[in-house]
Amino acid sequence: MLAIAPCRSALVLALVAALTTAMAGCDRPEPPRGTDAKPVAAHAAAAVKPVLGSFGFDASGMDRSAAAGDDFFSFANGTWVKNTEIPADRSSYNSFALITEQALKDTRAILEEAGKEQAATQDSKKIGDYYAAFMDEAGIEAKGTAPVEAELDAISAIADKSALSRAFGASLRADVDLLNATDYYTDRLFGLWVSQDLKNPAENAPYLLQGGLGMPDRDFYLEGGRMADLRKQYQAHIAKVLTLAGVADAGAKAARILALETAIAQSHASQLDTNDVEKGANAWAQSDFAAKAPGLDWTAFFNGAGLKAQSQFIVWQPRAVAGMSALVATQPLDAWKEYLTFHALDRASPYLPKAFADEHFAFYGTALNGTPKQQDRWKSAIDDTNQALGEAVGKLYVDRHFSPETKRRADEMVKNIVAAFGKRIDAVAWMTPETKRHAKAKLAGLRVGMGYPDKWRDYAALDVRRNDALGNAQRASLFEYRRNLAKLGKPVDHEEWFLLPQTVNALNVPLENRLIFPAAILQPPFFDGAADDAVNYGAIGGVIGHEITHSFDNSGALFDETGRLANWWTPEDLERFEAAGAALAAQYDAYKPFPDLAVNGKLTLGENIADVAGLATAYDAYKLSQQGKPAQTIEGFTPDQRFFLGWAQAWRSKAREPALRNSILTNVHAPGRYRAETVRNLDAWYPAFDVKPGQQRYLAPDKRVKVW
Ligand SMILES: [Zn+2]
Repeated sequence: MLAIAPCRSALVLALVAALTTAMAGCDRPEPPRGTDAKPVAAHAAAAVKPVLGSFGFDASGMDRSAAAGDDFFSFANGTWVKNTEIPADRSSYNSFALITEQALKDTRAILEEAGKEQAATQDSKKIGDYYAAFMDEAGIEAKGTAPVEAELDAISAIADKSALSRAFGASLRADVDLLNATDYYTDRLFGLWVSQDLKNPAENAPYLLQGGLGMPDRDFYLEGGRMADLRKQYQAHIAKVLTLAGVADAGAKAARILALETAIAQSHASQLDTNDVEKGANAWAQSDFAAKAPGLDWTAFFNGAGLKAQSQFIVWQPRAVAGMSALVATQPLDAWKEYLTFHALDRASPYLPKAFADEHFAFYGTALNGTPKQQDRWKSAIDDTNQALGEAVGKLYVDRHFSPETKRRADEMVKNIVAAFGKRIDAVAWMTPETKRHAKAKLAGLRVGMGYPDKWRDYAALDVRRNDALGNAQRASLFEYRRNLAKLGKPVDHEEWFLLPQTVNALNVPLENRLIFPAAILQPPFFDGAADDAVNYGAIGGVIGHEITHSFDNSGALFDETGRLANWWTPEDLERFEAAGAALAAQYDAYKPFPDLAVNGKLTLGENIADVAGLATAYDAYKLSQQGKPAQTIEGFTPDQRFFLGWAQAWRSKAREPALRNSILTNVHAPGRYRAETVRNLDAWYPAFDVKPGQQRYLAPDKRVKVW
């Protein structure tokens, strides 16, 4: 995913936020954030000739009554928006979702066959059994809450704060991702991310993140208006889950649990601060925790977490860690045990009888995101299988759905766009030779993974049982945690993938100066083998440019060519770069999807820089690829028009109001409508659509932001 810097790393496009993803089995995660694109798989190699009448984008989805210079998104997508209904099981719909639906169907076929195979491989048997266990609703119903009882008994047996601290350690999982997928959310007290050390690229480091909230962010606990209403619904949800499990005194307990989470929220860092790498890079020795964050029994915590031998940590939100640790000391043991009981049940709900799964969706899907209908069980089963055994599924997906020709064309496009980016570096007039030299070194060191990993993950040690849906999920999450712990003390593996091949997204890995483009994004509308180059460069080309630019955006500026946290800009260059960033932030601050809520220009800055520079670079690369060829008008559209329409149509999207509001608060990507309007910063867009001063999207030449 691309995201980061918000998308400091990968930036995936638009997805929804990290929050949804973390809630397995509930509302289906929105499309990934980040960008990327992908080529279609046509096998016809070489020169794909444009075919009149079908040049790869959806002319019928345009609204020609809209003026391109006033509302380019509607000009490119207005009829599609008018005629498209968001599926009832989604909180939003866009190009990612469109492709994701196809990837789901393809994956379903793989998993259903794997479940039936007689002489299956070990991996094939595991994915088939995992999927089948999740699909076995009758078996799940018959067991009631039995699968979660052992965990509830263990919570009940916690006798003191030391045992509580150990339990928090034992519940730690590798369920967050700071810089690659920018997934900051975990409902566990803390989250762990193991990745290359910010300050020492030769080693991996454990990054500790704040967590512990059932709702997506501190604002949901502390703000008024709609948030106050959601809190009431959340409290009712807690009471309902406890009641379903037969827990006595559910109403009073729900009130206490909400109060405890509200106290946790007060200690939490904001999304903006969490997104600030320099605020996060705090090295703590294990021995520092007791003094810097007193309250929790840290020795017991690290023992429980299997981290006893780890001496160094990076603590991303020190104030939150201190605040939550203090709460462990000051809040009654029983309050914590009630809190743990609810979260154990809530997390298990997608794998428990229907009443639990339905209640889980009613809150996280409908109340929180406005999604009317729960997605079909098989879709949740695929999401869950991907989460547990994603590369085993991905290997089969790639065998069936990704052609060598697609890989070849995508690799070539990346090569052209990287070359175009190099020319842009050379051409920046104001930049000092020193900064340019670093930028060129970083570009030269950029590595690209296309389609699928060269080496696949080994799941041999993961125990999967065909009759144990919850146990499978718990063992998979522990397996993943231990896989990450095993990286500590070892050199960084630069071949590891952080996205699945069957995921529609793209990713920049900032700490490793590396890009990842999964097979599934290399499909229309991002990449269409039947489309002419103009459309493909505007769509997937813009996405590729976006990911490349993340290595050079406000976050990329922080990491040198080895991935070390070391700003490689001279101070005077950085000042100009930041001025351009401030202008772009102001441009996005002015977009108001709702009268009371604007896009957050600062939160989305890294993604917007990546869009502006990525699209500009893709445009250059397109022009270079067309040298010596006659410009061809197709269906009345010039090549430049098709390029910009390709971009704007890649960002077509609709969202339900609650989901859009959540996304604006927590997502580092601006809504698709405004990403489409990136075009106004490119000079070539103006003559292409005859945009004049006075039109709403018109920017005077000196107001067009040029970052690279
Ligand atoms: Zn991005």
